[in-house]
Amino acid sequence: MAKHKYHFDIESLSFKKIQHTLKQKIIIFFQHFAVSFVMAVLLFVVFLFYFDSPKEKQLKREINLLLNQYDLMNRQMSEVTSVLQDLQQRDDNIYRTIFAAEPIPMSVRRAGFGGVNRYSKLEGYKNTAIIKETAMRLDILSKQLYIQSKSFDEVIEMARNKEKMLACIPAIQPIKNKYLTQVASGWGWRIHPIYKIRKFHYGMDFMGATGTPVYATGDGSAVEVTRSIVGLGNFIRINHGFGYETVYAHLSRFKVKEGDKVKRGDVIGYIGSTGLSTSPHLHYEVHRNGVPVNPKDYYFRDLTPAEYEKMIEISSNANLTFD
Ligand SMILES: [Zn+2]
Repeated sequence: MAKHKYHFDIESLSFKKIQHTLKQKIIIFFQHFAVSFVMAVLLFVVFLFYFDSPKEKQLKREINLLLNQYDLMNRQMSEVTSVLQDLQQRDDNIYRTIFAAEPIPMSVRRAGFGGVNRYSKLEGYKNTAIIKETAMRLDILSKQLYIQSKSFDEVIEMARNKEKMLACIPAIQPIKNKYLTQVASGWGWRIHPIYKIRKFHYGMDFMGATGTPVYATGDGSAVEVTRSIVGLGNFIRINHGFGYETVYAHLSRFKVKEGDKVKRGDVIGYIGSTGLSTSPHLHYEVHRNGVPVNPKDYYFRDLTPAEYEKMIEISSNANLTFD
């Protein structure tokens, strides 16, 4: 039943039914509609800001789950990183040491990624930091793993070539013990026999009669056979590969020529006193990767422990060299 509205007419002192025209009715309708609309919008906005829709609630749950996953993944990556570090240390300190290879420099192992920003796509979000950090850690980890696997390839190759390498690395004395009159002087600071000043002696001097045979101390090839009346005198340089070279100086005669392949124990020349030398002796040097090293560490093939001790004792005497 439609409700009627009345108003009190003070002239006639009676209630009169209000009769709206159509226009008034339309205006009233729109007024009601406008109020309802504004209310609805207000409620909607309030709802939007303070309450989540079921879909939003679900998305938030998923984001939380993903963040937890990221957290877990980062912890697992820390574990993997520490396992990798262990492998790297074992690689440098054991495997590469066995085969006398240089450790892989930290700068190579720890190298990052320079240049372009690889992670620009990940920027501008609330959780950018954790996602970016995880992506970076994963990239660094996979690069380090790659370097490590390359190193193991090298170690495997070195293990395969072990026999060849062991034949090439200098490992005997260049003069037979029975011909030795004296190991005159070894590696280190010595008084120079001619200049009479302190000079670093980068090799070992073996005293012997002129004409005593000199042996190649490892397999290789004679890359330099030089005649000279100064410095090292007549000398031979043998390249053994694997970063090793040996030098035999002050020789009286050669038994090899440049380019000849030699085997460990082959006679390559004879003791003399050519060049800067005070008496017949062999000046012997071992070079590793272009740097002279102490030859005493390269006689492991033919000396007994007692002979080795004796050799070290004699060679470390700070006596004169014969240069
Ligand atoms: Zn010398």
